[in-house]
Amino acid sequence: VLQMNNVGRTFSTAAGELTILDNVNLQLSSGDAVALQGPSGCGKSTLLHIAGTLDKPTSGEVAILNENPWHLSAEKLAGFRNQHIGFVFQEHQLLPQCSVLENVLLPTLAGFDRDVKPLKKRAVELLEQVGLQDRSAHRPAALSGGERQRVAVCRALIHQPSLLLADEPTGNLDPATADTVGSLLLKMAAEHDAALLCVTHSNDLASHFPHVVQVENRTVAFSAVTN
Ligand code: ATP
Ligand code: MG
Repeated sequence: VLQMNNVGRTFSTAAGELTILDNVNLQLSSGDAVALQGPSGCGKSTLLHIAGTLDKPTSGEVAILNENPWHLSAEKLAGFRNQHIGFVFQEHQLLPQCSVLENVLLPTLAGFDRDVKPLKKRAVELLEQVGLQDRSAHRPAALSGGERQRVAVCRALIHQPSLLLADEPTGNLDPATADTVGSLLLKMAAEHDAALLCVTHSNDLASHFPHVVQVENRTVAFSAVTN
Protein backbone atom coordinates (compact mmCIF):
# COMPACT_ATOMS: atom_id res chain seq x y z
CA VAL A 1 0.00 0.00 0.00
CA LEU A 2 2.66 2.50 1.08
CA GLN A 3 6.22 2.57 -0.15
CA MET A 4 8.71 5.22 0.83
CA ASN A 5 12.12 4.81 -0.75
CA ASN A 6 15.07 6.91 0.41
CA VAL A 7 12.67 9.70 1.33
CA GLY A 8 14.12 12.92 2.71
CA ARG A 9 12.65 16.25 3.76
CA THR A 10 14.66 19.42 4.06
CA PHE A 11 13.12 22.73 5.07
CA SER A 12 14.55 26.07 4.03
CA THR A 13 14.59 28.30 7.09
CA ALA A 14 16.04 31.67 8.00
CA ALA A 15 18.88 29.76 9.64
CA GLY A 16 19.53 27.82 6.44
CA GLU A 17 18.65 24.38 5.21
CA LEU A 18 17.27 22.09 7.87
CA THR A 19 17.19 18.37 7.12
CA ILE A 20 14.51 16.67 9.22
CA LEU A 21 14.27 13.33 7.45
CA ASP A 22 16.90 11.53 5.47
CA ASN A 23 16.79 8.14 3.82
CA VAL A 24 13.43 6.97 5.15
CA ASN A 25 12.54 3.51 3.90
CA LEU A 26 9.13 2.26 4.85
CA GLN A 27 6.91 -0.38 3.30
CA LEU A 28 3.42 -1.19 4.48
CA SER A 29 1.04 -3.75 3.02
CA SER A 30 -2.66 -4.11 3.72
CA GLY A 31 -3.25 -5.30 7.23
CA ASP A 32 0.12 -4.09 8.51
CA ALA A 33 0.00 -1.97 11.65
CA VAL A 34 3.03 0.07 12.64
CA ALA A 35 3.51 2.39 15.60
CA LEU A 36 5.97 5.19 14.91
CA GLN A 37 7.89 6.60 17.86
CA GLY A 38 10.69 9.02 18.54
CA PRO A 39 11.44 12.17 20.53
CA SER A 40 9.54 15.39 20.02
CA GLY A 41 10.71 17.22 16.92
CA CYS A 42 12.32 14.18 15.30
CA GLY A 43 10.03 14.38 12.28
CA LYS A 44 7.18 11.96 12.99
CA SER A 45 4.41 14.33 11.91
CA THR A 46 6.47 15.38 8.91
CA LEU A 47 6.81 11.72 7.91
CA LEU A 48 3.07 11.17 8.34
CA HIS A 49 2.28 14.22 6.22
CA ILE A 50 4.51 12.86 3.47
CA ALA A 51 2.90 9.41 3.73
CA GLY A 52 -0.49 11.13 3.47
CA THR A 53 0.50 13.19 0.39
CA LEU A 54 -0.03 16.39 2.38
CA ASP A 55 3.66 17.23 2.05
CA LYS A 56 6.06 16.51 -0.78
CA PRO A 57 9.43 14.97 0.00
CA THR A 58 12.50 16.87 -1.13
CA SER A 59 14.22 13.62 -2.08
CA GLY A 60 13.31 10.00 -2.70
CA GLU A 61 10.11 8.40 -3.89
CA VAL A 62 6.69 7.79 -2.42
CA ALA A 63 4.22 5.33 -3.90
CA ILE A 64 0.71 4.70 -2.63
CA LEU A 65 -1.16 1.80 -4.22
CA ASN A 66 1.73 1.72 -6.69
CA GLU A 67 0.96 5.25 -7.79
CA ASN A 68 3.33 8.19 -7.45
CA PRO A 69 0.92 10.78 -6.02
CA TRP A 70 3.15 13.64 -7.15
CA HIS A 71 2.62 12.66 -10.77
CA LEU A 72 -1.07 13.47 -10.40
CA SER A 73 -2.62 16.87 -11.05
CA ALA A 74 -3.59 18.80 -7.92
CA GLU A 75 -7.25 17.93 -8.45
CA LYS A 76 -6.58 14.24 -9.05
CA LEU A 77 -4.33 14.18 -6.00
CA ALA A 78 -7.10 15.63 -3.83
CA GLY A 79 -9.47 12.93 -5.07
CA PHE A 80 -6.87 10.20 -4.62
CA ARG A 81 -6.24 11.30 -1.03
CA ASN A 82 -9.96 11.56 -0.31
CA GLN A 83 -10.63 8.03 -1.54
CA HIS A 84 -7.60 6.09 -0.38
CA ILE A 85 -6.19 7.72 2.75
CA GLY A 86 -7.83 8.18 6.14
CA PHE A 87 -6.51 10.55 8.81
CA VAL A 88 -6.99 10.64 12.57
CA PHE A 89 -5.41 13.53 14.47
CA GLN A 90 -4.68 14.25 18.11
CA GLU A 91 -7.50 16.77 18.19
CA HIS A 92 -10.58 15.06 16.84
CA GLN A 93 -11.21 17.92 14.35
CA LEU A 94 -14.94 17.29 14.24
CA LEU A 95 -17.20 20.11 13.12
CA PRO A 96 -19.15 21.31 16.17
CA GLN A 97 -22.24 22.38 14.22
CA CYS A 98 -22.63 18.97 12.55
CA SER A 99 -24.10 15.83 14.07
CA VAL A 100 -22.00 12.73 14.69
CA LEU A 101 -23.40 11.08 11.55
CA GLU A 102 -22.76 14.20 9.45
CA ASN A 103 -19.20 14.36 10.74
CA VAL A 104 -18.57 10.77 9.65
CA LEU A 105 -19.93 11.70 6.22
CA LEU A 106 -17.86 14.88 5.85
CA PRO A 107 -15.30 13.32 3.47
CA THR A 108 -18.17 12.43 1.13
CA LEU A 109 -19.03 16.12 0.68
CA ALA A 110 -15.82 16.92 -1.18
CA GLY A 111 -17.47 16.08 -4.49
CA PHE A 112 -15.50 12.95 -5.35
CA ASP A 113 -18.33 10.48 -4.75
CA ARG A 114 -20.91 9.81 -7.42
CA ASP A 115 -23.26 7.87 -5.19
CA VAL A 116 -23.44 8.89 -1.56
CA LYS A 117 -26.29 6.58 -0.57
CA PRO A 118 -24.18 3.45 0.15
CA LEU A 119 -21.81 5.66 2.12
CA LYS A 120 -24.64 6.77 4.40
CA LYS A 121 -25.35 3.11 5.11
CA ARG A 122 -21.65 2.54 5.72
CA ALA A 123 -21.48 5.48 8.15
CA VAL A 124 -24.29 3.98 10.21
CA GLU A 125 -22.52 0.60 10.22
CA LEU A 126 -19.21 2.15 11.27
CA LEU A 127 -20.87 3.97 14.16
CA GLU A 128 -22.42 0.66 15.19
CA GLN A 129 -19.00 -1.00 15.13
CA VAL A 130 -17.61 1.58 17.55
CA GLY A 131 -20.69 1.41 19.76
CA LEU A 132 -22.00 4.89 18.99
CA GLN A 133 -25.13 4.04 17.02
CA ASP A 134 -27.28 5.79 19.62
CA ARG A 135 -25.24 8.97 19.37
CA SER A 136 -25.49 9.65 15.64
CA ALA A 137 -27.81 12.65 16.01
CA HIS A 138 -25.74 14.23 18.78
CA ARG A 139 -23.34 17.12 18.34
CA PRO A 140 -19.66 16.45 19.19
CA ALA A 141 -19.94 18.73 22.25
CA ALA A 142 -22.30 16.19 23.81
CA LEU A 143 -19.68 13.41 23.59
CA SER A 144 -16.72 12.50 25.75
CA GLY A 145 -13.18 12.85 24.37
CA GLY A 146 -12.92 9.11 23.74
CA GLU A 147 -16.28 9.05 21.98
CA ARG A 148 -15.20 11.93 19.75
CA GLN A 149 -12.06 10.07 18.76
CA ARG A 150 -14.18 7.02 17.94
CA VAL A 151 -16.22 9.24 15.61
CA ALA A 152 -12.96 10.52 14.08
CA VAL A 153 -11.93 6.89 13.43
CA CYS A 154 -15.25 6.24 11.66
CA ARG A 155 -14.80 9.35 9.55
CA ALA A 156 -11.29 8.25 8.57
CA LEU A 157 -12.69 4.88 7.44
CA ILE A 158 -15.72 6.10 5.50
CA HIS A 159 -14.12 5.55 2.11
CA GLN A 160 -12.60 2.22 3.08
CA PRO A 161 -9.10 3.69 2.75
CA SER A 162 -6.13 1.48 1.99
CA LEU A 163 -3.97 3.63 4.23
CA LEU A 164 -4.94 4.85 7.68
CA LEU A 165 -2.68 7.48 9.27
CA ALA A 166 -2.98 8.55 12.88
CA ASP A 167 -0.95 11.28 14.63
CA GLU A 168 -1.11 10.93 18.42
CA PRO A 169 -4.72 9.73 18.26
CA THR A 170 -4.83 9.13 22.00
CA GLY A 171 -2.64 12.06 23.06
CA ASN A 172 -5.53 13.98 24.63
CA LEU A 173 -7.12 11.04 26.43
CA ASP A 174 -6.74 9.60 29.90
CA PRO A 175 -4.88 6.25 30.01
CA ALA A 176 -7.96 4.02 30.23
CA THR A 177 -9.78 5.83 27.41
CA ALA A 178 -6.56 5.91 25.38
CA ASP A 179 -6.38 2.16 25.70
CA THR A 180 -9.96 1.70 24.49
CA VAL A 181 -9.52 4.06 21.54
CA GLY A 182 -6.12 2.59 20.64
CA SER A 183 -7.43 -0.97 20.63
CA LEU A 184 -10.41 0.14 18.59
CA LEU A 185 -8.19 1.88 16.04
CA LEU A 186 -6.17 -1.30 15.58
CA LYS A 187 -9.25 -3.50 15.40
CA MET A 188 -11.01 -1.25 12.90
CA ALA A 189 -7.91 -0.97 10.70
CA ALA A 190 -7.57 -4.78 10.70
CA GLU A 191 -11.25 -5.39 9.99
CA HIS A 192 -11.20 -2.95 7.10
CA ASP A 193 -7.88 -4.30 5.84
CA ALA A 194 -6.17 -0.92 5.92
CA ALA A 195 -2.45 -0.43 6.45
CA LEU A 196 -2.13 1.55 9.69
CA LEU A 197 0.71 3.93 10.53
CA CYS A 198 0.25 5.50 13.95
CA VAL A 199 2.47 8.07 15.65
CA THR A 200 2.36 7.75 19.41
CA HIS A 201 4.33 8.79 22.46
CA SER A 202 2.49 6.17 24.47
CA ASN A 203 4.42 2.97 25.06
CA ASP A 204 1.16 1.42 26.21
CA LEU A 205 -0.45 2.06 22.86
CA ALA A 206 2.67 1.04 20.94
CA SER A 207 2.76 -2.27 22.81
CA HIS A 208 -0.51 -3.24 21.15
CA PHE A 209 1.04 -2.91 17.70
CA PRO A 210 2.71 -5.85 15.96
CA HIS A 211 5.51 -3.51 14.84
CA VAL A 212 7.08 -0.53 16.58
CA VAL A 213 9.48 1.61 14.59
CA GLN A 214 11.71 4.42 15.87
CA VAL A 215 12.76 7.55 14.03
CA GLU A 216 16.47 7.61 14.75
CA ASN A 217 19.04 10.02 13.31
CA ARG A 218 16.39 11.29 10.88
CA THR A 219 16.01 7.80 9.47
CA VAL A 220 13.40 5.07 9.55
CA ALA A 221 13.75 1.64 8.05
CA PHE A 222 10.85 -0.76 8.08
CA SER A 223 9.47 -3.43 5.87
CA ALA A 224 7.06 -5.99 7.29
CA VAL A 225 8.45 -8.56 4.89
CA THR A 226 11.94 -8.40 6.34
CA ASN A 227 10.88 -7.91 9.97
P1 ATP B 1 6.16 16.03 18.17
O1 ATP B 1 6.37 14.71 18.83
O2 ATP B 1 6.48 17.16 19.09
O3 ATP B 1 4.83 16.17 17.51
P2 ATP B 1 7.38 15.49 15.59
O4 ATP B 1 8.31 14.33 15.65
O5 ATP B 1 6.01 15.24 15.06
O6 ATP B 1 7.30 16.15 17.03
P3 ATP B 1 7.62 17.35 13.40
O7 ATP B 1 6.37 18.10 13.61
O8 ATP B 1 7.64 16.38 12.28
O9 ATP B 1 8.09 16.63 14.74
O10 ATP B 1 8.78 18.40 13.20
C1 ATP B 1 10.12 18.00 13.03
C2 ATP B 1 11.00 19.22 12.90
O11 ATP B 1 10.74 19.84 11.67
C3 ATP B 1 10.80 20.26 13.96
O12 ATP B 1 12.05 20.72 14.39
C4 ATP B 1 10.05 21.35 13.26
O13 ATP B 1 10.34 22.60 13.79
C5 ATP B 1 10.55 21.22 11.84
N1 ATP B 1 9.56 21.67 10.86
C6 ATP B 1 8.36 21.13 10.63
N2 ATP B 1 7.70 21.79 9.67
C7 ATP B 1 8.51 22.80 9.30
C8 ATP B 1 8.43 23.87 8.32
N3 ATP B 1 7.35 23.99 7.55
N4 ATP B 1 9.45 24.70 8.22
C9 ATP B 1 10.56 24.57 8.99
N5 ATP B 1 10.72 23.60 9.91
C10 ATP B 1 9.70 22.73 10.06
MG1 MG C 1 4.11 15.61 15.78
